[in-house]
Amino acid sequence: MTDYRYIFSSQAPMFVVVLRHNVQRIDGTVRALISVGICSVITVLTALLASILSVVSPGFAASPPPSVENLKQHAISRYAGVVPAVWGESVSGVRTRLDTDRKVIALTLDACGGTAGKGVDMHLVEFLIRQKIPATLFINGRWIDANIELFRQLAANPLFEIANHGIRHKPASTTGRSAYGIAGTRNVGELVDEIELNARKIEAISGVRPTLYRSGTAYYDEIAVQIAHDLGHEVAGYSLLGDAGATWSAAQVKAALLKAVPGDIALLHMNHPEAGTGAGIIAAVPELQRRGFQFVKMSDFLLK
Ligand SMILES: [Zn+2]
Repeated sequence: MTDYRYIFSSQAPMFVVVLRHNVQRIDGTVRALISVGICSVITVLTALLASILSVVSPGFAASPPPSVENLKQHAISRYAGVVPAVWGESVSGVRTRLDTDRKVIALTLDACGGTAGKGVDMHLVEFLIRQKIPATLFINGRWIDANIELFRQLAANPLFEIANHGIRHKPASTTGRSAYGIAGTRNVGELVDEIELNARKIEAISGVRPTLYRSGTAYYDEIAVQIAHDLGHEVAGYSLLGDAGATWSAAQVKAALLKAVPGDIALLHMNHPEAGTGAGIIAAVPELQRRGFQFVKMSDFLLK
């Protein structure tokens, strides 16, 4: 007798062996054809069973999200021995513009956190809400901790999209490079923590996992850019320097924004109420609208 228990088990080849034993006396050619036919039937039945199970019970096909530790180990082995060649803001794979000729501008507002960077420019935030100006907010984990209630409100407001600005605001290095005197992540594992821990933090509070990442200082090596991609993020550079790290006067910020061209991504800050950034944006927005520009979120367009 043939044992059909093997059809839906991983021991399908044994099933073939059993069958072969039972057809020993049949002519060799017929026997070979039967074996090939049975193998095909098993393959089709297994695939059919898997697809039925995935429809009836989606959890059967989906695996649980990997732990951060697993992601780190995977990245460490994937990039073992790979030495980055470049370090800067315009690394291959960093997206700096919206892929469109339409007269649109994406305002991106960083909130960097830390001792000097956990402030909030409420005058600017209230202006954007009142005037219904969309913006993409790059939020650091330390800023969230200092402003949790406001973070919840911003994340719940469809005018804004929340993007990932790292858990500790580190430049994105796989070898410990620095930018503006700020030490970068020291290795692949630290970089995975920097990106993934803040992505999970944002998702845990807002319910939405971010898909855009800008490192602290916006510096990267090319391996870091690949790792950000591996972790499901587009890397967000910029085409229009809006406030030079929140150091410019309102007049300088306004003048910079009035140079905007279609598809620009403007880099600005929302965490320095003492800076000229807010007043500069508030002065420039009506003039840009008069010129026919619309303000959009980064994710409204493909990036280039
Ligand atoms: Zn920052």
